[in-house]
Amino acid sequence: MPAPLAPERVLVDAFGRVATDLRISLTDKCSLRCTYCMPAEGLTWLRKAELLTDDEIVRLGGLFVSLGVASIRLTGGEPLLHATLPSVLTRLAALAPRPELSLTTNGIGLVRVARQLVDAGLDRVNVSVDTLDRDRFRELTRRDRLADVLAGVAAAAAAGMRPVKINAVLVRGSNLAEAPALLDWALRHGYEMRFIEHMPLDAQHAWTRDAMVTADEMLALLGEYALRPIGHGADGSAPAEEFEVLDGPGAASWARRPGRLGVIASVTRPFCRECDRLRLTADGQLRTCLFAQTETDLRGPLRAGVTDTELARLIRTAVAGKQAGHGIDAADFVQPARPMSAIGG
Ligand code: SAM
Repeated sequence: MPAPLAPERVLVDAFGRVATDLRISLTDKCSLRCTYCMPAEGLTWLRKAELLTDDEIVRLGGLFVSLGVASIRLTGGEPLLHATLPSVLTRLAALAPRPELSLTTNGIGLVRVARQLVDAGLDRVNVSVDTLDRDRFRELTRRDRLADVLAGVAAAAAAGMRPVKINAVLVRGSNLAEAPALLDWALRHGYEMRFIEHMPLDAQHAWTRDAMVTADEMLALLGEYALRPIGHGADGSAPAEEFEVLDGPGAASWARRPGRLGVIASVTRPFCRECDRLRLTADGQLRTCLFAQTETDLRGPLRAGVTDTELARLIRTAVAGKQAGHGIDAADFVQPARPMSAIGG
C-alpha cells in the first residue's frame, strides 16, 4: 500500500474530497459549432495575451502535481488547435511524479498527429462522435467533417492510446435514436462508448430539463444489450457510471467481450460527493466546479511574479471552498456565465 501523502501534498475541500484530477483548457476556440454547445457564429474568443503561455501551463501543472494531482486532461475549446500541444505534453510528462495524460478532442486533425502525441506522452483520449451519419453530423456540428473525425479515432487506436473513449451527447430530434448504432460501432472497434446528459452549460442558454435526454432514457434505448453495472471507475470518482456490455446484437463481431459503456448523468444522477476534479481555464482561472459562479485568478498573481508557495496558498483556499454540489436542481440555480467550451469540458 503506498504511503499516505503528507497534508501539504494534498488538496482537500471542506467536505473531505481530495482533488486529484485537473482539466486544463488550452483554448476556448473550437473547429466545430455543435448546436447544443455554441451558436453558428461562434463566441467572442479570448485574446492571445489573455491565454496562458506554455511556460505558465507547465508551471501551474507542476504545482498542481506537487499538490497531489495525479491526472491531467487537456481540453478546450478544441485542444488540437493549440499548435504546440506535443511540446506541452512532453513537458507535462516530464513532471515528477508523472501525471497520467489524457485529451478530450473532436478528433479533427488527430489523424495527422496521433503518433506524435503518443510519443510526446499522451496516454489516452476521449473523442467526441455524436453521430455516424454524415448529414446528421453536418447538421449537428455545422461542419462536414465526419470523415476526418473517424480517421482521427482510428489513428488514435492505431497509435496505441488506450482506452479510446467516445463521447456523445444525445439530442432529442437529432441523434437520439442512433444510440444503439453508436454503441454497436464502438463495441465492434473496441472503443468505450460514453453517453452524456446535456448540461445547462450551452452558450445559447437554451437547455431545458424537459428536452434533455436522461440516463434512464438512454439505457432504455439500449435495452437489447445485457449490461452489468460496475460503478464509477476503479476509485469510484469517475464521472461515468460504467457498465460491462456482456451480450447484445452483433456480439460475435465485437473487438472484445465484455465491452464497456459509460453513462455520464451529471443532471439526473449527480456524482458531486465523489468529485475529484478541478479545472483551469485557458485564461488561467481555477474553477472547482463546472457550475461554480466564482473563479480564482491564478494568471494575475503568476504574471505579478508571486512564488509557488503563494500560488499554492491560492489553490488551497479555492479548493477548500469548493461547493458541495452543482445545485442544478435548486430553485435558485443560475447557469454560470462561461459556457462549457470556455470552461473546458
Ligand atoms: N472540443 C473537444 C471535444 O469536442 O471533445 C473538447 C471540448 S468539448 C466542450 C468536451 C465535451 O463536452 C464534448 O464531448 C462535448 O460534446 C461535450 N459538451 C459540450 N457542451 C455540453 C453540454 N452543454 N452538456 C454536456 N456536454 C457538453
